[in-house]
Amino acid sequence: MPLRIKFGALLTQCGEPIENGELVIEDGNILEISSSGKGSAEATLDLSDHLLMPGFVNAHSHLGLTALANKLSPSKSFAGWISDLIPLNSALSNEERMKGIRSGADDMKSSGVTGLADYVADPVWLKSIAELGFRSVLFLEIIGFQKDKADGLAKEVEEILKSHDASWTLGIAPHAPYSVSAKLLRQLDHLSKKYGCLLSTHLAETDEEVQFIDKGEGPLLSLLKDRQAFDENWQAPATTPTRYLKSIGALNDMVAVHCNYIEEDVDKVQAAVFCPKSTQWFGRTKVLPVRKMLDAGIPVALGTDSMASNDSLNFLEEIRMADKLLPDVSRKEILTMATWFGAEILRLPCGKIMPGKKADIIGFRINSNWKNWYDLPFDTPTQRVDFYMADGKF
Ligand SMILES: [Zn+2]
Repeated sequence: MPLRIKFGALLTQCGEPIENGELVIEDGNILEISSSGKGSAEATLDLSDHLLMPGFVNAHSHLGLTALANKLSPSKSFAGWISDLIPLNSALSNEERMKGIRSGADDMKSSGVTGLADYVADPVWLKSIAELGFRSVLFLEIIGFQKDKADGLAKEVEEILKSHDASWTLGIAPHAPYSVSAKLLRQLDHLSKKYGCLLSTHLAETDEEVQFIDKGEGPLLSLLKDRQAFDENWQAPATTPTRYLKSIGALNDMVAVHCNYIEEDVDKVQAAVFCPKSTQWFGRTKVLPVRKMLDAGIPVALGTDSMASNDSLNFLEEIRMADKLLPDVSRKEILTMATWFGAEILRLPCGKIMPGKKADIIGFRINSNWKNWYDLPFDTPTQRVDFYMADGKF
């Protein structure tokens, strides 16, 4: 049954804001946007005191780590943070992890997230996360630095891709250039093409990664050695992390996350994710050159990352932190990053309000006179959206 929604204002993310109009949706799809009174909807929802816009797309998270909230702090080195994280993560019980996944999902939803890219380290959690109600891409997170482990790991990934029932979308996430061998990267890249799925990785996040890939030295080398995960036959690629991935052909269809050290390599990346609060949590002095990438026509989405490097998964806090960290990026552009660019790079059929797109829509109550509608999601005191519709259901 078609539903007519009256709105006070609408940010379509594909044109100018529309005031005092109506949206018609049916079977989870947006059918039409009209100025008033047209269409043949049978039911009407009056949101004439709301600003509506596409739901947010959280383009990078690890819901499985939510139970690590408040357990870690930014330590002296990034490698030190990883070595603190590993035992805490292994010690989580299934109940703790599931409770964290649910509470993380609730925080995301209440702050307007309808689309999600999540890294899933253990396939046993795929179904639970897929059934949380997001329009999602779940990336199988793979770690394996030793070359002789590559065949076995790639085989395991292929088994999962083969047996996947297609009721949700899978992607492959080689964890990072310092934790996955070149051989395994090539194999995962091959599998992504064979099965038509997206790749994602943490890329050029820290100076420690830059040092390790260039010279084979530093805290990440010690971390791999301490964990008996180093490969004694490995030789440092002697280049930047981005050029290294490019040289092994693994940057096509790659959603690259963080990219703080990418200034000279911007043109080599097709799609990036900026994690504002995680970046701030670590106290990064270099951050993803968002302005430069947007100017080069490269879509940059936003992500929360995990509660191991954030104090909340509230997406409204992310757009507000992006606004603070990116003085040369407009609020209109930040909202595009938070919606359409996330949908575009994850190939999700949402992120814009236009006929044919999915009805993933959020709304904010209009509580004062706004000169610029793009300001409302940033300036409203609320930490929650006032309206939430996913796939036409609210
Ligand atoms: Zn991450």
